[in-house]
Amino acid sequence: MEFRDLKQQYQLHKTEIDNAIQNVLTKVNFIQGKQVSLLEEVLAQYVGVKHCITCANGTDALQLALMAWKIGAGDAVFVPDFTFFSSGEVVPLVGATPVFVDIDKDTYNISPKSLEIAIEYVLKNTNLNPKVIIAVDLFGQPADFDKIMQIAEKYNLFILEDAAQGFGGKIGKKKACSFGDIATTSFFPAKPLGCYGDGGAVFTNNDAWADLIRSYRVHGKGMDKYDNVRIGMNSRLDTIQAAVLLEKIKFFNEEIEKCNQIAEEYTRFLKDIVKTPIVRDGMYSSWAQYTICFHNSKEREQAMKFFKENSIPTAVYYRKPMHMQQAFKGYKFTKLEYGDTQMVCDSCMSIPMHAYLEFSDVEKIIKAVVRSKQ
Ligand SMILES: *Cc1c(COP(=O)(O)O)cnc(C)c1O
Repeated sequence: MEFRDLKQQYQLHKTEIDNAIQNVLTKVNFIQGKQVSLLEEVLAQYVGVKHCITCANGTDALQLALMAWKIGAGDAVFVPDFTFFSSGEVVPLVGATPVFVDIDKDTYNISPKSLEIAIEYVLKNTNLNPKVIIAVDLFGQPADFDKIMQIAEKYNLFILEDAAQGFGGKIGKKKACSFGDIATTSFFPAKPLGCYGDGGAVFTNNDAWADLIRSYRVHGKGMDKYDNVRIGMNSRLDTIQAAVLLEKIKFFNEEIEKCNQIAEEYTRFLKDIVKTPIVRDGMYSSWAQYTICFHNSKEREQAMKFFKENSIPTAVYYRKPMHMQQAFKGYKFTKLEYGDTQMVCDSCMSIPMHAYLEFSDVEKIIKAVVRSKQ
């Protein structure tokens, strides 16, 4: 049993994917081949936004967005305390200050209430200018954008939606990557829409920001890449990855559908045994992870040991709150509280979740959770 089964996915779609890669090899158009611009059109249409700009990875995508907004020294950027390191890492990279915000333990996403407390705190107690909220669609469920948008409006902040794990999710009919003023995703292999290496993309409806990001991703190009009008990056998606993604997007919705069936099954049988993820009304998750919480860390470690003995893979996303990471030790706001994040870091465990999981495996996993507690 695999935690995320990329082998089966490849075997099932081998012919189309091999042909797509072979086609790039024959044409040797490895950088900015026509598949890259075609993929950008397909993804923009899929999400329902005007511009998709692909880039080298999901971390660069976040950085490119902050660069387009000229975020830098003296600016405060609000980031959930429970997320992958990248969501916070990009903030000091552009010279700004990350302010970590507690999550809602039911959804694992940024808590709008804690967000407003953090913004007020920064306004009253620091010289920083609040500029951006990075709202992460963690584990696949879109963040609480209704409330986040109200807060953004009240304090005049940009919303950067980090949908590295949320691609394929929805609120009502509106897709993830359409909620932020700018949104980003990652095509790292294990993400909901993964390629065969590193890759990422930026989404926006704003023409000026899209133009800037297209320039920044190729060394701040002007008329062409040898006319450099600003300091940029080298952050392109290569043609082979675009070709793979053009094949994988064709069966992507079906995969997410299957993940939702598995999640329903997990929740049905586990909700009275452990804390299961709560998907809010109107929300549709892409189920990048299915993450449960035990009573405490001892119970979690016991379960992990039991799963290991039974050859069922598990993972802990994430053991450490962002504000506790050594790399962020210069950005501590000791008056802000992180109770839900700490509780989740101490007690959470993710169980296998992918579209190729057999229902017999799902049953085995459910039984293992139950037995691990006995
Ligand atoms: C994976 C991930 C990223 C970074 O994506 P890469 O392509 O690995 O750079 C950013 N944010 C979140 C929430 C992620 O899970």
